[in-house]
Amino acid sequence: MSSRIKGFMPDLVSEMQAAFTGGRLIQDNIIIVHEVLHHFKNRRKGRKHDMMLKMDMRKAYDLVDWDCLSALLEAYGFNRMWCDWVKECISTVRFAVLVNGGPTEFFSPSRGIRQGDPLSPFLFILMSNALSFLLDKGIAEGSIQGLKIKPNCPCLSHCLFADDTVVFGKATLDEAEAVMHIIDKYKSITGQEVNMDKSSVFFSKNTPGEVKASITSFLGFPDAICHDKYLGVPTEWGRSKKETFAFLVERMEKKGESWKSLTLSHGGKETLIKAVLQAIPTFIMSVFLLPTSLTKKMDSLIHRFFWSGSMKKRSIHWRKGDVLNDPKGEGGLGFRNFQLFNMALVAKQGWRLITEPNSLWARLMKGLYYPNGDFLTARKGSTSSWIWSSLWESRKALDLGTIRVIGSGEDTWFHKDPWVHPIQGHNISSHLDPPSRVRDWMCQDGKRWNMNLILRHCSPEEAEAISRIQIGPDGAPDKWAWKYNSTGRFSVRTAYHGFRNHLKEVNQPMPSDLNLPADDDKWKWLWSLNLPPKIRFFMWRCIRNALATKLNLFRRKCSPNTTCQLCNGEEESPIHCLFLCSHAEATWRMLFPSNVVPQNISQWIFSLREEGSGDVCRQKIFCLWNIWKARNEFVFKGVVPSPTRTSIYAFREAAEPHLTPSSTSTFNQPREIPSHSCPPPFHPQQRIYCDGSFDVATQEAAFGVVITNSEGQIWDGKAGRIICSSPIEAEARAILEACQWAFEKRSPTMIFSDCKVLVDAINGCPSSWPWRCYASLIAITRILQQAERLRISFISRRNNKSADWVARNCRHGSLHHNWLEVLNVISDRL
Ligand SMILES: [Zn+2]
Repeated sequence: MSSRIKGFMPDLVSEMQAAFTGGRLIQDNIIIVHEVLHHFKNRRKGRKHDMMLKMDMRKAYDLVDWDCLSALLEAYGFNRMWCDWVKECISTVRFAVLVNGGPTEFFSPSRGIRQGDPLSPFLFILMSNALSFLLDKGIAEGSIQGLKIKPNCPCLSHCLFADDTVVFGKATLDEAEAVMHIIDKYKSITGQEVNMDKSSVFFSKNTPGEVKASITSFLGFPDAICHDKYLGVPTEWGRSKKETFAFLVERMEKKGESWKSLTLSHGGKETLIKAVLQAIPTFIMSVFLLPTSLTKKMDSLIHRFFWSGSMKKRSIHWRKGDVLNDPKGEGGLGFRNFQLFNMALVAKQGWRLITEPNSLWARLMKGLYYPNGDFLTARKGSTSSWIWSSLWESRKALDLGTIRVIGSGEDTWFHKDPWVHPIQGHNISSHLDPPSRVRDWMCQDGKRWNMNLILRHCSPEEAEAISRIQIGPDGAPDKWAWKYNSTGRFSVRTAYHGFRNHLKEVNQPMPSDLNLPADDDKWKWLWSLNLPPKIRFFMWRCIRNALATKLNLFRRKCSPNTTCQLCNGEEESPIHCLFLCSHAEATWRMLFPSNVVPQNISQWIFSLREEGSGDVCRQKIFCLWNIWKARNEFVFKGVVPSPTRTSIYAFREAAEPHLTPSSTSTFNQPREIPSHSCPPPFHPQQRIYCDGSFDVATQEAAFGVVITNSEGQIWDGKAGRIICSSPIEAEARAILEACQWAFEKRSPTMIFSDCKVLVDAINGCPSSWPWRCYASLIAITRILQQAERLRISFISRRNNKSADWVARNCRHGSLHHNWLEVLNVISDRL
């Protein structure tokens, strides 16, 4: 029942209620309340005084009146039977009270809904929605005024999050009376009660003391205290933002310290950091851009915890923080840089501002900060709130990936909007008055670009880029897309990495101190090795030269000398310790007599990739690990190492399956991708096979379409060159050509493509469409709507060789004029 009711919630519930309602976030309310309070703080003059009542509903769940609930459900249009079911669910509760250790008789309550029941939150919200209804009615009838911060802002009456209720209004006694009248009405209908002790009222700064006094004495709740919080976020801060949010750092420290007594391996710490510590500030960071000093502090806390196992103890940080924050695929440990992550989280709100402009909070921000413009070009302004500054700042990250995808070009500005995605910055550099739409730069028919016009006003690079953008069919809306995600939907993860890479490019890549050749796969290989995390981490330290040998300690001024304690002669470099020292050398000789002492440990480790059989590679890794372990046993406990013992341990551990975290085969083998050719669901007269071909180097593209009759003979086909900028676009164009052919011939038929992503997208929901193919996909679905018996199916590459041959040869320009005949002869041999 709860999953059925969930689908109806957004339609039933007022836009002021944010909890448990799909598409609305708790952040919306935080932003609205924050903006209102910011406005209160800045309104120092004028005769308009405003207030905000923050109310707490006492034991909200327990006081729900059943009869009222049933009546409300019926009023919402739920049918009788459903209402009875609900009543059955909530009224079958029975309680017994323990008196003097023995239970009394069971009794049935007459009100309240169960905590923990999945249905309860929805019922509760439907009921509290009655308050929204009453308040909206009050606004409509003029009995209450609500709050309009600026002329272009929406009128705010209230904000609900579950049982957290905030009501806005004019700071007058009349308004307070009218609001309380409504609340009383709500109380009498639903049985809810306001908790006076936890409620408070906020006034705009210009409100005179006597007005405040008369209202507070009427309401019976106090003037707000500064350190109040709303939904866990402070509502006010003094001069220092750092102090306001210092509690985040404290919370992280506390959490980290609570693990101090556990002896954690680096692998264990990595997991705790990623799952717990880094998640602590996420909620706050999704609306506020924290001061850099604070995010730096958080970074260093994480690094300190990682190296020393404690939040307080300092220890050697073996690698610089930025290396730990690098993604694993680039040789780091994939910790988050809090500042960049903060940026990406706030950018998500910015993205919602662009793509959901009709939500209440988006209309409020528009009214406040860009009444006549849009978010992407808005100015920061002088009286901006912290949230607005954060959103404005996050545009740096947002700008990198936000693009306008062209449908018919009628809704996109040619110069102002970022729509030319093949070029950097996505914008046309030149400026032209008056502003024109992208549609104005196409030919009359709206199917082709007006290249003459474009070449006259744009640079050759821009013209080239525009020519590669496909135009959608007439009337197709333009839309926003996030280019780092194939479906065009914004994600914090892609924003984080996109922004990070951008900064890296801008700041010049740091020269890697090991001069490793650029090869991302080797790191993937390392982290995918089926080994205990502590051993993988040990290898990472070897590669990153972060092993605590005497030489490394000496360089960090943590050891008076560099001498190897085992042989008391040589300098203890990592190579010496792991390969050359007498104990290491003897161990290697025992296990791998032909092993050559490497010049460079990282190269040696990565060369294990070529070892072929997993066993040898595994044994060598365990050998290295046990040599290091034996060395530590000697240094810290005085246990004299024995090469025989070390090699036995190494060999045994390498063979033991319980040391590996999962029972899958020893090393990651490429998984076989199941190639399934699709059996046709019905047997039409003919079939159409299509394929696109794209060459990344030359950017040349072509499509091929082949039509077979019921005997499987090729009797018609079509090929042509196309201009686009990615392989998937070429595939989409090929499908479109096939659809057009079938539609013109009015042929009920099957179309086959070997591009699974596109076939799934066409047969699925538009929100999963790859944005690069937007124009083609709109055109394809339009044809499909008209041609009911047209079907598009997936086929494996293996079975689509004819179409592939046509597309490829067309791209090369080597398609003979009688290629159909040629293809019929050679098709069996393809
Ligand atoms: Zn030695």
